[in-house]
Amino acid sequence: SKTQLQDTQLFREQCYLAGAWASADSGETLEVTNPANGDVLGHVPVMGKAETTRAIESAHEAFQLWRQTTASERSDILRRWYELMMAHQDDLGRLMTLEQGKPLPEAKGEIAYAASFLKWFAEEAPRAYGDTIPGSKADQHILVIKQPVGVSAAITPWNFPAAMITRKAGAALAAGCPMVVKPASETPFSALALAELAERAGVPQGVLSVLTGKSSEIGEAMTHHPKVRKISFTGSTEVGRILMRQSAENIQKISLELGGNAPFIVFDDADLDKAVEGAIAAKFRNTGQTCVCVNRFIVQEGVYETFMTKLKHAMEAQLVTGDGFESGVNQAALINTAAVDKVREHLEDALSKGAKLLTGGEPHPLGGHYVTPTLLAEITSDMRIAKEETFGPLTGAIRFRTEEEAIEIANDTPFGLAAYFYSQNIHRVWRVAEGLESGMIGINEGLISNVAAPFGGVKASGLGREGSKYGMDEYMETKYLCMGGA
Ligand code: ADP
Repeated sequence: SKTQLQDTQLFREQCYLAGAWASADSGETLEVTNPANGDVLGHVPVMGKAETTRAIESAHEAFQLWRQTTASERSDILRRWYELMMAHQDDLGRLMTLEQGKPLPEAKGEIAYAASFLKWFAEEAPRAYGDTIPGSKADQHILVIKQPVGVSAAITPWNFPAAMITRKAGAALAAGCPMVVKPASETPFSALALAELAERAGVPQGVLSVLTGKSSEIGEAMTHHPKVRKISFTGSTEVGRILMRQSAENIQKISLELGGNAPFIVFDDADLDKAVEGAIAAKFRNTGQTCVCVNRFIVQEGVYETFMTKLKHAMEAQLVTGDGFESGVNQAALINTAAVDKVREHLEDALSKGAKLLTGGEPHPLGGHYVTPTLLAEITSDMRIAKEETFGPLTGAIRFRTEEEAIEIANDTPFGLAAYFYSQNIHRVWRVAEGLESGMIGINEGLISNVAAPFGGVKASGLGREGSKYGMDEYMETKYLCMGGA
């Protein structure tokens, strides 16, 4: 096959709808290309309202049985799904590099990370504990139980084509909820391969559907169907806002993991070499295309020049741009032309407003969706690079004097997903950690995504938490039983 997989059944050009592989009613398909070279990889169905409604109704039917299974049965299925993902890590990684572009080792790393959510929630499934509460009347007993909310729906982005699905589906299935998933149109093959493995793991018919196609029509069908009790979305703030508005119709529970504008603060008392190491990891993972990627460095005046020089040298020495299948490459082609244009616009805007170019800046010799890693000094808060998510290998640093000023600059954004800071002063560490308006904080640490930790944002970065012991709550209702006369 053109994708050169060991297990060719993992490459699916149909959707997984209600336990069967299906084409769109219209027969219409959508082309999927490799962002590194424009090669056509294959086609997927363009599904819409009718197919989505069928998937939801089949999920609702499946719910009646799925909710009756024991947590241990659901746990076994999730565990098998996890094991199948790990057994096919090479193929899944390859498929991801083909459609998403990220370097193969990073793609395989995402497969392991994605699979870890299935293992985690296989372990969490039996731990959906309730509570007993002393009643306020002598003859009353209060019990609290957790129950699955019902049919859930997920819409996921292209930057983590596997992990954003398992982080949602693992929690939903563990809780006893079926899920209908709409992956990003750029990266549907990773999602469809996961559906194939879910079927092999024994996920019953209707409990998981994966539909590709018209985003807004599928999103509308999901939010307007009264049987859908939960929407989980990862993507842009604009689309999150649309879905939140639409979900008001049926008062659906909603989780939103939206854009960020992550600050990375370096204080005078930081270990600068560690800070540079963390900076490279936090900024350039997935070629800058993660919602927790650093957008703005905020560096104290006493170490500004030294830190910037060290960061520039680290970028020049460590960042290797090229095709994700080439060994040694760690910076890949961006997902599409719009992404490349946005980085260029942010760069031009910053330079026109007085930023100083330290490294990069020129178009990448490979052309296409490739971008030269670029570092700017003396950026200011009126520049687009400081206000909007750049989502590419371009960054810059603002200079600050006092701790209060650093916190003020960091919080001066509608977003609040991830924030990072480096300091060796324990008192400062507490003050700054508490002062930053952000859902997740890396303290002397650049890589914070972790299956065991609650992932999510504050302010316009979203609602709800994924992964960790908190992740399953999003898919469960708390029911209170009042037992009288006892
Ligand atoms: P990104 O910038 O990461 O592509 P988007 O928010 O545009 O962010 O996309 C994230 C997911 O949301 C994708 O699966 C996309 O197809 C889907 N999407 C885009 N527009 C809508 C919409 N109006 N309603 C529902 N889903 C949408």
